[in-house]
Formats: sequence, structure tokens, C-alpha cells
Amino acid sequence: MRFWILPVGKFDVDATVLDPSTAPGHRFAIPVYAYLIETPNGLVLFDTGCSNSCRVSPQQLLGDEFSQVLVPDLSPEDMIPSQLGRLGFALDDIDLVINSHLHFDHAGGNQQFSHHRFMIQEQEWDAMAKDPAQYLDPAASAIDRTQLTLLNGDTVVEAGVTLVSTPGHTLGHQSLFIETSTGPVLITSDAVYTREQFDPEHVGASTDPDLAKASVARLLDIVHDTKARPFFSHDPVQARQEDWRIAPLFYH
Ligand SMILES: [Zn+2]
Repeated sequence: MRFWILPVGKFDVDATVLDPSTAPGHRFAIPVYAYLIETPNGLVLFDTGCSNSCRVSPQQLLGDEFSQVLVPDLSPEDMIPSQLGRLGFALDDIDLVINSHLHFDHAGGNQQFSHHRFMIQEQEWDAMAKDPAQYLDPAASAIDRTQLTLLNGDTVVEAGVTLVSTPGHTLGHQSLFIETSTGPVLITSDAVYTREQFDPEHVGASTDPDLAKASVARLLDIVHDTKARPFFSHDPVQARQEDWRIAPLFYH
């Protein structure tokens, strides 16, 4: 097995994007990631980054106000086809796409996978269908129902690759637990944006804050029980300050 953490762009954000309780006016860059797993049964892509519309016309996609507090900094090289290409893969090599959730920066690349299998939590799909506006990017839901396997809770994808139900940030959010030769890694996705928010008392923006707190507590338990290393979705300093292999480096 090989496992890559793919850097798929950056956002220049106001601090309120990560923590709505903080004072506005402080800006910094945050990374966006997707993840690629080569299993004995094929290539699995976890999250698909942003859409080309987000790169080319963010104001139109995100709206006047949000595109000011969150300014996408995306080059063509940040997009999923380029990220796969530099590892020697093409879109058609992907056997399964999984979304942590359907926000524009985790599922914006979905529409490029027009005949691929998808796995998404049923609650996430239903929440998006009820209120598509809150998900911002129609490219995220441009999936034919026949492509889709809807999940209900924790799911073993392959030996050593498990989806962990972590609702709260969105109603059907899921994280990814993966065994590597250097030990298990827990990809929190947006259940936890940064290391400071890996604390039930400091959860970030959430659709359901109580569920979000419970999910953070659950991820803390998993880290405690398995000694997994947590990797946070938008931590501005993690990749610099900690010893992580970012693609083209990879884990076995
Ligand atoms: Zn999100």
C-alpha cells in the first residue's frame, strides 16, 4: 500500500473562518488537502479539492462576502488532475472516490469523476439535497445516483483503511483512519481544522456544535487508544512544524 497527502491549494483567510468566536482582522494562509491510497484493489481518492470555478471565478462561486474572508489561492498545478499526474496517475486510474463531506474545498473536484464509484455518508447526501446553498459548489454534488454508495456510520473500505463517522461540522462528515508502516494516521478532515481545535471545547465552524464536540472527543479517544498521528485539515503550520510526508513523498 502507498498513501499520499496531496497539497491541493491554499486559501488566504480571516481568522474567523477557522474560529467564528475570534475577532476579525487577522489574516493568514491555510492549506487544502486531498489524499490518495493505493490498495491491492485499486486507487482510492479521499476528497477532491476545489473546482476549476473556485480557482477561476471564486467571487461568483462563493459570493461577495465569503470570497473576501476566504480568498482562494489556487494554481492549475494545485488541481487534482495535476496532482495525480505528477505521481504518474490519471483521473481514470482512480477506482473509488470518497468524500469526507461535500463542502466546496473537499468535493469541488467531484464532477471530474463522471463514471467513478463514490462513497459518501447518507446523512451528508441528504443534508446537501435539502440545503444545497450551504454547500456552495454544485460541482460537489454532480454525481449520478448510480455512481453512489451511501454509507451509514463507520465503514471498512479495505484492510487498514477505515472511515470513521464524525458528524457535526456537517451532518454526515467522516474522517479516515489508515494503517501505514510507520504507524496509524488519522485524517480528521474538517472535524478538526487545526491542532488547537483538537479539543471538544474549541471546535471550529459546525452545523451541529454538540455533535461536533462529540466527534472531536471520539477522535481524541481513537488517538489515545491506537496512538494514531492526527493530521488536521487546514492547519497553517502543521506541515512545516511536524514531520509529515507531503506528496510526492508518501507512506507505505
Ligand atoms: Zn468543511
